[in-house]
Amino acid sequence: MIRLTGIRKTFGKKVALDGLELDVREGEFFCLLGPSGAGKTTTLKTVAGLEQPDAGTVVLDGRDMAGVEPYDRGVAMCFESYALYPHRSAYDNLASPLRSPRYRLPAAEARDRIGAIAELLGISGLLDRRVGHLSNGQRQRVALGRVLVRPARAFLLDEPLSHLDTKLRQQMRAELKAIGAVRNTTTLYVTHDAVEALALGDRIGVVRDGRIVQTGTREEIWYRPCDTEVARAFGRPRINLLPGTVTGTGSFRTADGGVEIPLDTPAPTGAEVLAGVRPRDLTLHGPGHELTGTVYVTEVLGRSVEVTVRVGGQYVSLVAPRADTAGLRADDPVRVRVRPENLLLFEADRPERPGRRIGR
Ligand code: ATP
Repeated sequence: MIRLTGIRKTFGKKVALDGLELDVREGEFFCLLGPSGAGKTTTLKTVAGLEQPDAGTVVLDGRDMAGVEPYDRGVAMCFESYALYPHRSAYDNLASPLRSPRYRLPAAEARDRIGAIAELLGISGLLDRRVGHLSNGQRQRVALGRVLVRPARAFLLDEPLSHLDTKLRQQMRAELKAIGAVRNTTTLYVTHDAVEALALGDRIGVVRDGRIVQTGTREEIWYRPCDTEVARAFGRPRINLLPGTVTGTGSFRTADGGVEIPLDTPAPTGAEVLAGVRPRDLTLHGPGHELTGTVYVTEVLGRSVEVTVRVGGQYVSLVAPRADTAGLRADDPVRVRVRPENLLLFEADRPERPGRRIGR
């Protein structure tokens, strides 16, 4: 439905997009995730026709968009900077796209559409207010509504929830995908928030330095991150990454020998690696290879507890149910279990690029 091939875009000497490839399927909710400056907004603008790429092609619904004006592309984009009429009412802002000759919806149908979207976005009570008098969060919802009321081939949403307070943001996150228009329309959604991408994306594209470094479902990205940087981006507490080497007997071993874990994936002997294991994949009881250590610190996270354990010269973090950690104090000896199948192996990080995943 949206296919970008070899997109390059520079601003003076700055390379914003560096051979970006993207393939979004019909009806899919696709999240572009990446840090500030990675090229997410430029990607959306390139799809919308608001930026012209220096090289590469944009194809929408099988049609090459070269030379096609933004208003002829059939996509609706929501800007982080709102782009609303401040002197007009929220209703007018929502209604104005529907009055354009492009849609020219009968007044009653337009009213119904606006009413339904306003309801879902929790702005029904604000429709008579001037946008200039609304709070940032309210304006952002009007801006999102202005996009969603339009019949479109695709929605392009640039951090549409970023100005909402935490509670509203969580609520909208849960509801956004249930909105009929969103469910039925291909959506390309930009965020720098990994939790948001995991919650919303049917698939996620991780953007870094003007390229997509990994595309996958949330499971693929979570269980099979392509490199250490993607592994670190998802999950709090962060994944443990222990430096060490691969032994002749096919185990992972830290330099001081304090951690040694058999590997269930082949890796070159002697290779300098990082062994990755997520805090929720380490346990204090149950099956798995045992590591002996002492408690460094515990932190209550609600129903679970984060325990940092010193194992040899390393610190590993694990998240355990409260019942398993009752009475644990600093310096208590503990045994941490790790199942080899939960261990991810990466090449060691280099200054020019993060370590790539090895094996499985
Ligand atoms: P953010 O989350 O901060 O919006 P982003 O991932 O959306 O980041 P882009 O806005 O696409 O990143 O920008 C990518 C790079 O291109 C950045 O280094 C940015 O400074 C640069 N850039 C984007 N637009 C312009 C422009 N109009 N002129 C000059 N440089 C630009």
